[in-house]
Amino acid sequence: MLDPVAWRDVRQEVSTGTLPGWDRVEEIVRDAHSRYSEERGGRVADYIPVLAEVDPELFGLAVIEVGGGLHDAGDALHPFSIQSISKMFVYALAIQEYGHERVRQIVGVNNTGLAFNSVMALELNSGHPMNPMVNAVAIATTALMPGATAVEQWERVREGLSAFAGRPLSLDGVVYASEAETNDRNRAIGRLLRSYDRLAGDPDEVVDVYTRQCALSVTAHDLAVMGATLADGGVNPVTGERVVSEEVCRDTLSVVASTGLYERSGDWLFEIGLPAKSGVAGGIVAVAPGKGAAAGFSPRLDEAGNSVRSQMAIGYLSRALGLNLFASAPARSHHPESVPSSAP
Ligand code: GLN
Repeated sequence: MLDPVAWRDVRQEVSTGTLPGWDRVEEIVRDAHSRYSEERGGRVADYIPVLAEVDPELFGLAVIEVGGGLHDAGDALHPFSIQSISKMFVYALAIQEYGHERVRQIVGVNNTGLAFNSVMALELNSGHPMNPMVNAVAIATTALMPGATAVEQWERVREGLSAFAGRPLSLDGVVYASEAETNDRNRAIGRLLRSYDRLAGDPDEVVDVYTRQCALSVTAHDLAVMGATLADGGVNPVTGERVVSEEVCRDTLSVVASTGLYERSGDWLFEIGLPAKSGVAGGIVAVAPGKGAAAGFSPRLDEAGNSVRSQMAIGYLSRALGLNLFASAPARSHHPESVPSSAP
């Protein structure tokens, strides 16, 4: 369970529309890193064999501002596999390609309330996937990528995610091989989608592209750049390249806000108030529209598969930087005697 005790003593700054100055953001990112450096809660994922071998002490944080300001702390440049965080960006590419309505019809926008690898999520809806951030729907979304062959679809995914990151991303071949050998469950989901006529193409090939997309190697810094592109109306704030449209950012972030941390998405939004996406290798990226993105990497996970330490550190950043989308204070001009109050 996400415990607000992790940052209860941090004053809830309200959203101002802009971030504090660069120096102040830098200081807050360093504080967030040192504050949770002793945190040891959670367990490293082991259902993908190679992930169990990672050093659980790794801990990186990064914040990228839409104005281009960069802040890294700890192991922010340590590579790890993007895993489920890829779902958010492939979903954005699918909306860019097919538009809001078509993607909504094909993959739905609602939370399932079920685990990321749930088969029931599919069965309960007669094969109509509901939540683009769980595996079944993510696999169906990957199947939408343009390309005449699985190889071309994979290239489209890799290029698209690289544009978000502002550098060419490459496959972690060891993670890919480890997951490809053990992903019977995802292959079963692929077959089930096919049986419901929800998947064009060969299900094993689509699952293979999905497995590759999950094994793309990124750093916390990359994730923050990728998130900041969604915070910046689709323009990468580091390279200046337009990657997706403003509408795609809005659609993607609204879906991610209610689904990005699986069955803990409600807890997350209640405590932290930002759209965010997690992956089982320990990454999380949270997006503050119009301001920037914060990313964490730390391999120990909670029961739902979300990095414990990344959640804590991003919770701190959300409070201290005034990122919570739901935090406000009375406008003083309307209520001269009221002053912003600190959160309980
Ligand atoms: N590749 C992983 C899987 O499909 C991704 C899961 C995750 O990051 N939650 O099981």
